[in-house]
Parts: sequence; structure tokens; C-alpha cells
Amino acid sequence: MKITLLGTGTSQGVPVIGCNCEVCRSTDPKDSRLRVSILVEHREDALVVDVGPDFRQQMLRAGVKKLDAVLLTHEHNDHIVGLDDIRPFNFRQLTDMPIYCMSRVLDDLKIRFAYTFAESRYPGVPRFDWKVIDSSSAFKIGHISVECIGLKHGSLDILGFRFGDLAYCTDVKTVTNEQKKKLHNLKVLIIGALHHDAHHAHMNLHEALEFIEEIKPARTYLTHISHHMGKASAVKLPAGVEMAWDGLCIEL
Ligand SMILES: [Zn+2]
Ligand SMILES: [Zn+2]
Ligand SMILES: [Zn+2]
Repeated sequence: MKITLLGTGTSQGVPVIGCNCEVCRSTDPKDSRLRVSILVEHREDALVVDVGPDFRQQMLRAGVKKLDAVLLTHEHNDHIVGLDDIRPFNFRQLTDMPIYCMSRVLDDLKIRFAYTFAESRYPGVPRFDWKVIDSSSAFKIGHISVECIGLKHGSLDILGFRFGDLAYCTDVKTVTNEQKKKLHNLKVLIIGALHHDAHHAHMNLHEALEFIEEIKPARTYLTHISHHMGKASAVKLPAGVEMAWDGLCIEL
């Protein structure tokens, strides 16, 4: 299985429009972050988690020609607003794209993408095959097994996903003891860590490191990073923990 981090930045991306801080001015490619998404590939099967505003660019950059499914963590704009750009896959594959999400997320998308649910649709609108899941769901996309993990994003219930020995938990603030059991014995954890200061809905760096200490994955990559984190090369992290970067590939 191969996991590619297509984007590792928080909702505004890095650099931030108009910002002149040292991170936004950095020439280090590891300081340039599109909005969060991962590509999971195993044999001929491929899925992405989240479809944000940079989805089109991410598909082009990673050279993705075939996509079997989309998994959505939650309905915030930086995770869903690129859904219209699923169209090239509809046209190439001649199928509706399976989209896995929670029922609350689907209700929200019915409003925001109303034109794709209309009785009489404009020819060429994206076509989705909605699959409702929740924190207890486990299923397969081709050869890729997926286990859902319930996470708290402030007061909002969202999903993380476990693919074999790797788990992806972005936009998380807290995890119940019940759901933590699904994060045991991980080879790789990818987890959101926004910046240094406290945030009501995201773990900051300190909280993420405490969580990693408790869960003890063999390796961890931090994602959903803001420019306030500082330059990637300057952030001090314990052994086994790294800042993720756009384009990072993990083979398992
Ligand atoms: Zn987000
Ligand atoms: Zn900045
Ligand atoms: Zn969010």
C-alpha cells in the first residue's frame, strides 16, 4: 500500500495570501502546503480522503488517472469544496463516483451542491454515488480495507480512517477512550497539529505530541499545519515524529 500526502496545510494553505512572515516567504518546498488530502493506493485501487480547494492541482501533480472512491472526514470547506472537480473521473470512468461520508455531512452537501442533486441536471454536472458511513463502519474499496474512527473536532463529530497499519486523523481535538482502541499498534499515524497556541477545535503541537506519547505509533507525521507553526526545518520534534510535507510518500 502506498499513501501520498497531497496537501498538509491548514484551511488557508501556506503561504497565506498577502502574508509576509518568514514561513510564507520561505523558499523551502517543505514550507509550501496545499489544503489537506491523502491518496491511498493498493494494487490497481485508489481512493482519496477529502476533496478541498486544491483537489484539481493535487490530482494533476500526483498524476492520478483513476479514482475508485472518495472518503470525507467532515463538511468544512477545506475538505469538500473541490467536489465539482470529480467530473473528469466521471467522464473518464463512465461511472458515478462513490463518496463515503457521515449522514450529517451528506445533508450539508445536499444544500451546498444542490445542482448535483436536482431532478433535472445540467449535462456535465458531477455525478456522485453517496455511501453513508459512521464511526462504527468498516468496509473495503477494492483491495483497500477501511476502518472508521470517531474523532472530536471541537464539538463536531468527524471521522478519521485506518488503512491497515496506518491511521489518518486530521482536524482532531480529542478522541474518546473507546475510539482510541482503534489506534493501537500503528506503524504510521498521520495527525493534525495546527500550531503552537491553543485552538478550540484542533490539537496544537503540544497536545498532538502528548497524544502520540499515549498511542505510541512507530512513526508519526504531523499535518493540517498553519504558517504560525514556524519553518518546517526549525520545529523541534521528538524521535519518530516529523512534520509532513506535500508529496510525502509512505509505503507499507
Ligand atoms: Zn480542516
Ligand atoms: Zn505567513
Ligand atoms: Zn475542520
